[in-house]
Parts: sequence; C-alpha cells; structure tokens
Amino acid sequence: MAFEGLTERLQNAIGKLRKKGKISEADVREVMREIRLALLEADVNFQVVKDFVKTVRTRAIGAEVLESLTPAQQIVKIVNDELTKVMGEEAVELNKSDKIPTIIMMVGLQGAGKTTTLGKLALKLKNEKNARPLMIAADIYRPAAIDQLEILGKSIDVPVFSMGTDVSPVEIVRKGLELAAEKKNDYVLIDTAGRLQIDELLMDELAQIKTLAQPDEILLTVDAMTGQNAVEVAKGFNEQLDVTGVVLTKLDGDTRGGAALSIRSVTGKPIKFIGQGEKMTDLDVFYPDRMSSRILGMGDMLTLIEKAQQDFDEKKAQQMQEKMRENSFDFNDFIDQMEQVQKMGPMEDIIKMIPGMANNPAIKNLKVNPKDIDHLKAVVYSMTNEERENPDLFNPSRRRRIAAGSGRPIHEVNRMIKQFNEMKKMMGKVSKGNFEGMEGMFGN
Ligand code: GDP
Repeated sequence: MAFEGLTERLQNAIGKLRKKGKISEADVREVMREIRLALLEADVNFQVVKDFVKTVRTRAIGAEVLESLTPAQQIVKIVNDELTKVMGEEAVELNKSDKIPTIIMMVGLQGAGKTTTLGKLALKLKNEKNARPLMIAADIYRPAAIDQLEILGKSIDVPVFSMGTDVSPVEIVRKGLELAAEKKNDYVLIDTAGRLQIDELLMDELAQIKTLAQPDEILLTVDAMTGQNAVEVAKGFNEQLDVTGVVLTKLDGDTRGGAALSIRSVTGKPIKFIGQGEKMTDLDVFYPDRMSSRILGMGDMLTLIEKAQQDFDEKKAQQMQEKMRENSFDFNDFIDQMEQVQKMGPMEDIIKMIPGMANNPAIKNLKVNPKDIDHLKAVVYSMTNEERENPDLFNPSRRRRIAAGSGRPIHEVNRMIKQFNEMKKMMGKVSKGNFEGMEGMFGN
C-alpha cells in the first residue's frame, strides 16, 4: 500500500507524545528528528524535508502547543497543515482554452503511464464535461504505442488520429489538429514519445510539437514508484518544456511518498491528477489536503464523507440518531443500518477510511466477507418482530429457534446478540457526548 512506511513512522513519532501530559521544547525537537528521518527514508527531497521540519518545529514550539493539554493532536494538525502546503494547498484545475479546441500535450518517460493516462483523461473529459475529445498518436518510436492508443480509444469510444510510424510526429500533430478543427472536437489530447531517460533529441522533438500546437496544458506523467527519480525527471522536463502540470501515476502501488511530497516544491508545478490503477476510470483529481490525511493515516475522511453523502438517506440517519439518543435502537434499526453501510461499498474499504484505521494492525489485513453480513441479516430476519424491538426477550429457547430458522450455529446467534447489546450501550453513551473508551478509534 502507498505510504505505508511513512505513515507508520509518522504515527509512531507523534504517538510518543500522546503518553505525555505536557511536552517540552526538547520533546518537540526529538519528534521532529524522527519526522525528518521518516521523510528522508520515504525519499522526500532533502531541501523539502529541511524546510518542512524547520517550519513545523517553529510552529510546534509556539506557546499554544507547549501549553496545550493535547499537544499530540496540535502537532498532528500542524504536520497536516504543512504537508498540505508542501503539496500545493489547493487542487488545481485543468487549463481550458477560450478557443476551441483546448489542446493538451502529454509528455513523460517511457513506462510512466503516459498513454494510459491520456486515455483516462479523455474518458474523464467525456464523462464529466460532456466533451468530444480527439486523441493524436504521435509516438512513432515505440512500435506498439499507436496500437495501444487505438485499442484504448475503442474501449472508451474516443476517436484516435494516427498516420503510422513513417511520418514525423510534428506532421502527425499538424494533420491531427486540422482534423480536429474540421470535426469541431473541443479537446485534443496529444500522446508523445517517451524514452528511458531524458535526452536531447526527445526534448527537441517535444519542443517542436509545443511550438506548433501551442498547447494550453503540457501534462507531465511521472511514475510515483520511482521516488526521487520522478522528481529529477519532473525537474528536467520542466526546465526544457515549462510544463503546466503533473500527473502522478501508480499511487495504488507500494510508493513511499517522495514524489508526491517533493514535486510541487522542487518544480513549482502543481500535481493535477493522480493515477490509482490500470482501469480507465482510475484517474482522480489531486487534493493536497486529502493526500496529507492519507499520508498521516488519518484516513481519507473527505472521501468517506462524500461517499456517505452520496449514499446515505439523510432522513433515516436523523431517525437513527434520535433512536440512539433515546436508547431505543433495536434490531430493525440494526438491519437498516447494515443495509445503508452495504450500499457504500466493501466494508473493509470503508473501515480503512476512518481516521487511525488504515494502519491499525488489526484492520490491515481485514477482509470482510459480504456473506458475514448476509448471515447477520439472516439471524435478524429469523427473529419475531417483538424480539427485534425488545432484545431483552432472548432466552435460550428463543435463541435455539432463531439459530434453526436462520441456519446459523447457536454460538453465532449468541455472539451477535452480545455484540448488539454492547453496541447499543456504546451508542447511548456517545449520543450523550460521552466518548470515554472510544479514543482508540481515532488513533490517539
Ligand atoms: P507510457 O510508456 O508512458 O505510455 O506508459 P503506459 O501508458 O504504456 O503504461 C505503462 C504501464 O503502467 C502499463 O502497464 C499501465 O497499465 C501501467 N499504469 C499506468 N498508470 C497506472 C496506474 O496509475 N496504476 C497502475 N497500477 N498501473 C498504471
């Protein structure tokens, strides 16, 4: 999983402060030393680390933190703020031309994910902006590149302009732009050649295409898995072509974090998108604040909230809250809630988005079998309405009947009733504002 080592080390470093009531300046210095090492080990650029540590340390030594009763939380907040700043603070939108078409030129080293990202972006524009893009295949050196783009184009139903491998890339782009003008495409996406390393010939060719096409956006694709190297590549491309944005690919892989955290500071150019998988839909807008919480292992709360907003029935949620307050939450509500949660997607994905859960050892390898939830439901459906409303009725004979009715073993029925009662107790407390015993859930 991406950022795993970094998250763990940052959490450990800050975690040590949690055990202390008050902290001293020396404690802050010690934590910052550990944070510095964690960042360097995650392959973050040396200068970026140096500046980051200095800023966080200065803020953390401020009186408000040292005198606070919850210094660890204050430091998490400062680290979170500053990580967000390092990555650019706000999401930056794709440039758009006042004229038609908007021209996007995709550049990057071979294997970085350029062609794949071009397809993903075309699909995104099509789906989200109702666009009619044209893709131009101008990589004539990698034999399969044109075929690859054509296959991608078919799969997302976006036209591809190509002229084989015997015509110069500049000429292909010229002809492609003419076709786009004729067909009134509103976006043109140009796939260019890559090399294993930056070389002069490649840069010359790209510069010629840039001069001809006058793109509104030059997006550089870099592979997040390559860490510092990705940053060097970004620097090189930017110096030669003055790129307008970066796409960081393969963030679904085992990347350490160096590229995500360094590129903005080193190049001054925003990361606009992140690639998080091989499917055509795996391209997301880059939000520095969300990435920061992800790195800190606070879970992607915003995504979770958005998901919940999309899928939750507001009225039901309010009724549920009311019931929790009145302590009248029963098995009917339990089933309702299960169904709402199931609508949001695989349970383990949802749990991992809760702060502090992503790296919780008990959760890391969790696989929730959708069947388990079906079993729970089967047990509840075998209860009478009276029993669902009044969980105190469960005597041994009722439990045996429910087990037989649901086809689940008696010990499972017993365990479920016990868990339900515990949950109900906890809900009662929480709804009255008593969070005792729940700190662990938030990584404290
Ligand atoms: P190009 O040489 O830069 O055009 O690279 P390609 O688009 O051919 O991609 C190289 C490989 O990386 C392919 O196998 C892609 O499926 C894969 N790839 C691209 N983006 C991602 C991503 O975000 N995540 C993962 N896991 N694989 C990716």
